[in-house]
Amino acid sequence: MDNQSLIVIGAGAAGMMAAITAASKGVDVTLLEKRERAGRKLMITGKGRCNFTNIKDWQEFSSHIHPNKKFLKHSFHSFSNQDTIAFFESIGVESVVERGERVFPKSGRAVTLVDAMVGEMEKLGVKVFYNSAVEDIVVSDSVVTGVVCRGQMYDCNALVVATGGLSYPSTGSTGDGYMFAQKSGHTLTERFPSLTALMPIGYDSNLAGLTLKNIAMSLMVGSDVVQEEVGDIDFTNNGIEGPLGFRVSRKAVKAISNGNKCSLSIDLKPAVGKEQLKSRINKELEQFQGSSYETFALNFMPSAIVSFFMEGNKLDVSAKSMSKKEFSGLFCDALKNWRLSIVSYTSYERAVVTAGGVSLDQIYSKTMKSRICENLFFAGEILDLDGDTGGYNLQIAFSTGKKAGEEAAYLILRSTSAD
Ligand SMILES: Cc1cc2nc3c(=O)[nH]c(=O)nc-3n(C[C@H](O)[C@H](O)[C@H](O)COP(=O)(O)OP(=O)(O)OC[C@H]3O[C@@H](n4cnc5c(N)ncnc54)[C@H](O)[C@@H]3O)c2cc1C
Repeated sequence: MDNQSLIVIGAGAAGMMAAITAASKGVDVTLLEKRERAGRKLMITGKGRCNFTNIKDWQEFSSHIHPNKKFLKHSFHSFSNQDTIAFFESIGVESVVERGERVFPKSGRAVTLVDAMVGEMEKLGVKVFYNSAVEDIVVSDSVVTGVVCRGQMYDCNALVVATGGLSYPSTGSTGDGYMFAQKSGHTLTERFPSLTALMPIGYDSNLAGLTLKNIAMSLMVGSDVVQEEVGDIDFTNNGIEGPLGFRVSRKAVKAISNGNKCSLSIDLKPAVGKEQLKSRINKELEQFQGSSYETFALNFMPSAIVSFFMEGNKLDVSAKSMSKKEFSGLFCDALKNWRLSIVSYTSYERAVVTAGGVSLDQIYSKTMKSRICENLFFAGEILDLDGDTGGYNLQIAFSTGKKAGEEAAYLILRSTSAD
């Protein structure tokens, strides 16, 4: 291997972007990928369609970045969502914007984007080695001198670690980079699955496949409301998912893993005030002749959810044992504040993203360079940086990958010209 070279670990979104950027500046780049091909995770993003960015402006975009949007600001501004779209267009990937300002390849296939990145790496002469898991990194006096891969030492002048997080480990993201970060003196913040399914107590898995649209949902930790959202939820085999379920999952998972009680309060009729809803219920009850209030509830919700709703709200369904007046008040309360206690969540095997990671305090936000090792860079999900669903996580990977590749290249080129 050339002496003045850059090694990138991980051929995911961040690693490929770093490799392309450094190689385009004339640096000799070697990319080591554990799996048999590049972008295994990218291929499954956006249900195989790859929602690769979001065109909201920074003000709005940044409200979807956690836990430190300021850290992303510099790399986002130097390689923004619009730059990402233009970059992909320049390598032959046209895009379309969909609901929620989410951007997808026009082909509707994630593989288009992966193939284009792989093609670009080939064109620029990046040496890509598959089935090549890095086992260790070699650090001497705060300088990375190389990596160990398949028992062999590879020297380098700079290293970009872009090994992703812990979610969907079958794609190759098994958290190896955290070990490299710790070995080189970095600390890790608490890691936990985010954008994941929440399992309510007494959940009926027959609900899988049902979507509730335009509901309001509050996340409660203990008796405190900690997040309020409006939108859609999906019921799946794993519990509650969908845009709203995912959005509250970050705080919910953290609360549960810290031993706190966590529940959801669902308002099935957010567009109608309580008094208005009550008078509508009363009016309809006047006409109601049935013997079971389950039949009555059908006027207010999809049939698939009625039993779970009535049971969960301890509503007696027999019209004989509960008067219409009594039922009306309880039913109205339940429609406006249906409480679901969350008992667990789906872990990394199916979480979209890993929250937490390499502590941002130890990384320069303007360069992605370590504050501890002078030639070590981090990019992508390995960082303590994550986003909501909507294209934010891939934009984090592209912006930080671009920055890491660029700055690693400058470092190498500066040291070459000084020799
Ligand atoms: C099902 C699913 C759907 C998603 N959909 C979207 C979406 O539509 N939009 C969006 O913005 N985000 C989405 N995400 C999140 C997004 O895919 C990730 O945040 C992003 O891919 C992270 O990029 P990365 O390059 O940091 O890591 P990864 O893409 O995980 O890449 C890391 C690479 O490093 C390799 N690697 C790991 N260890 C080693 C080692 N020791 N040696 C060599 N190589 C190694 C891995 O094999 C892997 O190829 C989705 C995630 C999932 C799981």
